[in-house]
Amino acid sequence: MSILRNIKEISGNIVNTTWIEWVHPLIPNEPEILREAIRIAMAIKHCLICTRLDGCYFLESNMPELPLHPYCDCYKENISSDKLKNATAYCPISKFKDYIFTDEIKSKGKMYIFTSMGFSSDDSYTLSTEFERQALSCYLNGNYSLDFLDQNGQRIGIPITLNNHMFWSGWMVYPNGKIQLVTPFGGWIDEF
Ligand SMILES: [Zn+2]
Repeated sequence: MSILRNIKEISGNIVNTTWIEWVHPLIPNEPEILREAIRIAMAIKHCLICTRLDGCYFLESNMPELPLHPYCDCYKENISSDKLKNATAYCPISKFKDYIFTDEIKSKGKMYIFTSMGFSSDDSYTLSTEFERQALSCYLNGNYSLDFLDQNGQRIGIPITLNNHMFWSGWMVYPNGKIQLVTPFGGWIDEF
């Protein structure tokens, strides 16, 4: 991800603030639990990446490329501001409690990054709610950068500010306006 380029894009050039929902046409509008089963079943014959994007919300000016591949029959549908209110950000506490502050090997030294900003394992709940608050606000303001897209879905980068430090966090986009934290720390943003 080209961080500097994305920052400029984020801060300067959002003209179109229309929100869209990505629609994969063959997934009926079923409750989410059924849609997930249908998605998996359909992925045998259809593009799994497209089925993953089904139901996801994006700014029209900052969305995955459409069509995504030859013969892609996905389309976008404008979403109302009422629907956009469904958007949620979920940051599992375990990302801090059991990963950042516990597993120093797997988290590749990220514990130090958070302790040097003044946090400890006891702050896991505070961090997770603060990440959710900031991420939802940034997402809804279009302040996110498209990261990689694969068969798990579309990842986006969202800037988080803690104690005067600004850094990228990584989130996965899910249907119905849900985003979920994947990576608590994805690199510093040298902005100040
Ligand atoms: Zn498609």
